[in-house]
Formats: sequence, structure tokens, C-alpha cells
Amino acid sequence: MTQLNPRQREAVRYIDGPLLVLAGAGSGKTSVITRKIAYLVEQCGIDAKRIAAVTFTNKAAREMKERVGKILGSGGDGLTVSTFHQLGLNIIRRERKHLGLKDGFSIFDGEDSKNLIKDLLIQEHGSDGDQAGTVQQRISNWKNDRVLPEEAVARATSPADILCAQAYLRYQRALRAYNALDFDDLILLPTILFEHQPDVLEKWQNQLHYLLVDEYQDTNSSQYLLVRQIVGLRGGLTVVGDDDQSIYAWRGAKPENLALLREDFPALKIVMLEQNYRSTSRILKAANTLIANNEHVFDKQLWSELGMGDPLRVMRCANEQDEADQVVAEIQDHRLRKRTRYGDYAILYRGNHQSRLIELALQQSGVPYHLSGGTSFFARNEVKDIMAYLRLLVNADDDNAFLRIANVPRRKLGASTLEALGEFANEQHCGLSTACERLSEGVMPEAGLKRLKQFHHWLESMRRLNETEAGVTGIRQLLRDIDYEDWLLQLSSSEEVAERRMSNVHFLVDSIDRLMRDEDITLKDAINRLILRDLLEQQDEEEAGPDCVQLMTLHASKGLEFPHVYIIGMEEGFLPHRVSVEEDNIAEERRLAYVGITRARQTLTMSLAEKRRQYGETVPCEPSRFLAELPEEDLVWQGGGEASPEANQERAAETLSGLKALFA
Ligand code: ATP
Ligand code: MG
Repeated sequence: MTQLNPRQREAVRYIDGPLLVLAGAGSGKTSVITRKIAYLVEQCGIDAKRIAAVTFTNKAAREMKERVGKILGSGGDGLTVSTFHQLGLNIIRRERKHLGLKDGFSIFDGEDSKNLIKDLLIQEHGSDGDQAGTVQQRISNWKNDRVLPEEAVARATSPADILCAQAYLRYQRALRAYNALDFDDLILLPTILFEHQPDVLEKWQNQLHYLLVDEYQDTNSSQYLLVRQIVGLRGGLTVVGDDDQSIYAWRGAKPENLALLREDFPALKIVMLEQNYRSTSRILKAANTLIANNEHVFDKQLWSELGMGDPLRVMRCANEQDEADQVVAEIQDHRLRKRTRYGDYAILYRGNHQSRLIELALQQSGVPYHLSGGTSFFARNEVKDIMAYLRLLVNADDDNAFLRIANVPRRKLGASTLEALGEFANEQHCGLSTACERLSEGVMPEAGLKRLKQFHHWLESMRRLNETEAGVTGIRQLLRDIDYEDWLLQLSSSEEVAERRMSNVHFLVDSIDRLMRDEDITLKDAINRLILRDLLEQQDEEEAGPDCVQLMTLHASKGLEFPHVYIIGMEEGFLPHRVSVEEDNIAEERRLAYVGITRARQTLTMSLAEKRRQYGETVPCEPSRFLAELPEEDLVWQGGGEASPEANQERAAETLSGLKALFA
């Protein structure tokens, strides 16, 4: 308790009713949650099993669990620290029967559901499927706002609306038929269940006595309802958040949700924190000045005792290559001069695609780095392929998995054969695998039918084999049967690439083996666990190495902190993003910039290019409007004009001085 300031202490100790900690970045909100969990267990005697904490990413959840574990030791056993989606999934898993889900249900990730929507649009609406993304977003919004398909259809008026609503209806029906859920269902279903079955809700309310929510400003309506339901009348709730860091409007989160809390919980106590323990005063002032341009539900000011610190730097670069080179050269130089670690640096950007040149520059300079949210293990094609086989082993009706691997490796199952199979499955109201079984002559040309039957028989034999064989022997047999290694060789640009891919496959199989032995579970359970991990950790990443420069999007940087931060692409079109400019959604972009700036502890550097290649053309770039909103007196502009040569000279001189300092 001694390390907390009086306000934080107050927030930790207040357990008489719902509590909101509302405070700006770096003021110790997450710290309050961690300490409060320990307080609840140690001082209030609440069993850790009865406490759940919800954070925004799997990474944050892991970190929080670790931190609490350090304070509580084994006293923290049974504590739930998870994302909203994981919490929802836990509930669904345990209440599966109430929800009418069959065992081994599958979960569609964003790509899966987009594919399904695309198929539906093509098959049923005669569209070319181009709008799949838009329709998917609409459906997701409906789900987050708790609008069911029938309601969406009833309400739709414009032709576009009607198309979306009907696709929603069909999509939901298809999910049901496939015994599958999508991400939004993970939240939506528990809330519907709790609404209709008070006894089930009561059970969960008795199970969870205290709920803590981090990054509250980013919860959407469905998630918020889930919170309200679980907390019920007991009022065991602490939420912490910052309306200025609400950056997920596109997923239904609104800063107003914070104000709503006050309406829904009249007894809500609010604690505001104002001291920032993260950043120097200059960085804070910049953040405060920038965000003052947004309208506010709550007013708050941040101050820090960490000294003025260095001015913020704006690096003007000739083009995107120059930007990448300069940022990397700077980091190397700075590290030498200040004797820091690579891990002290983060490079943040608005869109994933912006990382490519930086990555190359880092590679060329031999700087170790870690990219968050890139192609994670489970997003790799070979892993997805084999996961699809595994999904089929545990759920024969997983049609997406079926379609993914029907021709991996090639089995001469042409599009028309698969389409005919799909139509037949629709008529029969069954999955594709069951449809294969029921196929009889005349449904489709004989050659295709024969191949489908063959494929189906083989799948069935694999399923049986894996039920009887010990460990992962059956999976290894499956890999040999399909000669996956050879398939990878055919696909890959070189033998080396194929080998690397195959080693990912082996890693996957070994993980299953280990999971079965460590946890003493069946193959089916182990695969199911992996399926969940696959889905829930998709945005997550393998753990970063010990000392690497961190690369990530501004969105992914939420809640984190780094001594030295670079925000690249400070240009109109990037930050604010072009789409947000078109949609006049500048406030959200400003919050995103605020999130980025407030990640920095000691120094902040922002870079922009004067020209950039876009769609094969070189186009001039305009500095981000947000730069003009920062306090001029705290900014130092560097470079500019076609000034690359001078910038290079300057840089060379700086590097030299750095080297001199090092050997002084
Ligand atoms: P964000 O809004 O970015 O999520 P936050 O409000 O959750 O930030 P924390 O991450 O909890 O803030 O804390 C920011 C930093 O301040 C951390 O390094 C934390 O260890 C430190 N800190 C928090 N409270 C105190 C305190 N009372 N004394 C000293 N350091 C503190
Ligand atoms: Mg935090």
C-alpha cells in the first residue's frame, strides 16, 4: 500500500459499492486493479476463485496475472484474468447445453466469417461477394448493439439495409448449422442467456463476487451489459478507464459509455487520479494540449513530477525510405550515446502496412526487433491448414475447415463439385461432411461424387484412428497420408522456406502432445484448447525476445509504456487516417494520437515524410494537423526540404559524437 498515493489507496480500499476510477494515461489505473485484486484476497478474505478481472488483450491479461501472482503467490490460484471474449467463452462452454450448442462447437475468426458471408452473398444474393467486408461490419455492429437478425430484417428500409439484414439472417442460420460461433457471439450469447434464464445468471452471480475491468472506455454495449448482469445487485465492481483513450468506436465502444455507468449505477463512486507516473512534463503537456481539442465528458488534468524532460522532436524526412533509415539510425545512435537497451524503444504507427520498410531497415542494420500483431503463429498458412484438419477431427461439421483443406493437398475437387455438395448439404440441412456421406448417384457428376466419397471415407478413418491411437500418433499418420511435406515443397519458393514451414507444423503437433501429457487430457480436449487459443490469441503474439525494439500499431500500444517512443507517419491520411477524415471522425484519431504520445516515458519523436510512394506514384504528403495542435515551444523540428544529404551529414556527426562518448 505504501507505494500508492492516497487517491489510489482510496480506490483500492473502497469495496462498499461500484467504483469508477477515471483518470488520464499513466496515472496508475492498471496498477490500482492489480493491487486491488491482492487487497480483496489478502485483506477482505475473498477467495481468488470469486474474483474476475477483465483486460483488453491476452498480453495484458497474462501480465496482470503474473503481477498478481508475484504479490499473492498460491493465494491467487483460481483467479480469472481474461479478456471479455475469454470470459464469454468460459460461460458458453459451461452453459453449452442451455444454448443448444453441440459438443465441440467451433469458433469462426474474422476471416472465417468473412468467407462465409462472401459465400452467402454469392450464392443467395447473386452478388460478387465484394461487399463481404462491409456486410460483416454491419452484422458485427448489430450484434454489439444486441440487435437480432429478425429485428434487423424488420427494421431495414433501404435496399442496402435489407441486403445486410437478410445476409445477417442467413449467416446466423449457417453458423447454427455449422455448430459454430463468431467472435461477437462470445459476448452476445451469454447476455441473451442471462436475460432469459435468471437461474443461470444467479449461479454466475454467486460464482463471481467481484469484477474488475481495465480500459473500460473500450467496452461496447454487449460487453457492458454482461458486466451489469454479472455484477447484479451486489455491486462488487471496479472499473478503470480514460475517456480520452477510447479508440475502438468501430467495435462499438463509445466514450459516452463511461457516463452511462453513472446512470446505471446511481451509487457509483468516482475516484479521479491526476498524477502521472510515466512521462516527463513536456510529454504530458503535449498530450494534454492535444486532447484539449476534443470535447469532453469529464475534465481532467495530468501532471507529473518527473521533470521537464527533452523537447519533442519532429523528424521531417524526404520520403518513406529516408524515414525508415533515419528512425533506425537514430535508435542505434541514441542507444550508443545513452547506453540504453533496444527494448527501451518502441516504433508506433497507424496501420500495419507501415511497418514493412522499418522492418527491412532494422533487419539490414542488424537491430533485433519484435513486431506485435504481425503474422502470428496461428495465422500462418501451414498452421491454419493443419488446424483445419484438426478442427475436422473434433467436429465433422466444421464446414469452413472442410472447405479450407478439401484441396490441400490437391484432390481434384473442383469448384463445381464443392458447390454441388454445398447445395445438397443445404437441401439436407446438414454439414458438408455429413452431406458426403448421404450423397447418392445423380446428385452430381460421377467423378466428383467418387472423389468426395473417397475423401470422406479417408477423413472418417482418420477420425477413428485418432480416437484409438495413443498421443499424437494418429496426427502424424494423417500428415504422412496427405504428404504435407511434399505439398509444402511444391508451394514454397525454396527448400529452406518449406522446411521452416514444416517445422511450424511439427511444433504444432508437439504442442498437442505436450498439452495431453502435461494436463492429462484427451486428444480431443487438447485440440479444442488449441482451437480456442488459436482464436483468442490471434491478435496476440509470441513473447518478445528479451531485448528488441518493439514495433506495433497505436491500437496495440494501449496500456503499455516505453522509455523512448517513435511515432512514424505523422501525416494527413495516416494520422488522422484517410477514412476518418472522410467520415469526419477526427476526435477518435486524436485520441489515438493521445494514446501514442502518452506511451512515452522519456523521449518522444514523431516522423513524417515529404513524399511517399502510393499506388505506384510518388505523392506529396501533408504534415498531420495534430502536429500543429502540439505546443510549439516544446517541439524541435529536424530535417526538411529535400534535405536528405544534410540530414545524413548531421546524423553522421551525431553518430560520431556518440561513438566518441562511448569510448571517452
Ligand atoms: P494507461 O492509461 O496508459 O493504461 P495507467 O493509468 O493504467 O496507464 P499504469 O500503467 O498503472 O497507468 O501506471 C503507469 C506507470 O506508473 C507504471 O510504470 C506504474 O508502475 C507507475 N505507478 C503507478 N502508480 C504509482 C505510484 N503511486 N507511485 C509510483 N509509480 C506508480
Ligand atoms: Mg492501464
